[in-house]
Amino acid sequence: IIAVRGLRKSFGDAEVLSGIGLSVAESEVVCVIGPSGSGKSTLLRCLNRLEASTSGSIVIDGQELTADHVNIDRVRAEIGMVFQQFNLFPHRTALENVALAPRVVRGISAAVARARAQELLAKVGLADKANAYPAQLSGGQQQRVAIARALAMEPKILLFDEPTSALDPELVGEVLAVMQALAEEGMTMVVVTHEMGFARSVADRVLFMDGGVIVESGTPAEVFDAPQEPRTRAFLRQVQ
Ligand code: ATP
Ligand code: MG
Repeated sequence: IIAVRGLRKSFGDAEVLSGIGLSVAESEVVCVIGPSGSGKSTLLRCLNRLEASTSGSIVIDGQELTADHVNIDRVRAEIGMVFQQFNLFPHRTALENVALAPRVVRGISAAVARARAQELLAKVGLADKANAYPAQLSGGQQQRVAIARALAMEPKILLFDEPTSALDPELVGEVLAVMQALAEEGMTMVVVTHEMGFARSVADRVLFMDGGVIVESGTPAEVFDAPQEPRTRAFLRQVQ
């Protein structure tokens, strides 16, 4: 459902992605790990074209993102993204945050969007927080609202960029549990994370990025228990 070939991205003179190849099958969960500045966020942002790539090809669900005629809004509607900072609208309730995009972008009626939003809040364990404002929610709860909001557009793919990095440690588990449930339901997910336990237990495949390239990839057992590359080993020694 995702096929990336020869992806390069530069900011000015600095090349941040230096030839990324990546394919993700439907229902696959790929975790991306690697040191700060290695290009993980830039890769995710290229996948939904928050960043334009410098060269290379990105095909999402059969559509070449860099093609002139591509309807980028349509491709983007198939890709949900969850960020480290939850980016909820502060003056809207949890329910409104989830219901807004389907109503505005998809033209779904307010009543239907609200009913669906209520279901999604229940799915992430927040049925009783529908009328709470973001400031009244914990970080973990806010991030679960953000996940429900991404799901409201019925994406085929969910991209996560360090979704638990801004959370107090005791709140990380509740967000990872929601992500794990989505993975088990068959959602296709690309997850940039520092949570090695999550990557080990939920990922089908782990990619280790460093210096704008994928240095090593494999099953969690391959990458975590038998890393082949010295850079992977050095990184894992630091984080584990
Ligand atoms: P982290 O783990 O800290 O989030 P990362 O792997 O996500 O790091 P990126 O955010 O993709 O790394 O950044 C990769 C490199 O690209 C960094 O050197 C960063 O400074 C640079 N970079 C990212 N965005 C921009 C931008 N908009 N303009 C210029 N340079 C950028
Ligand atoms: Mg990043």
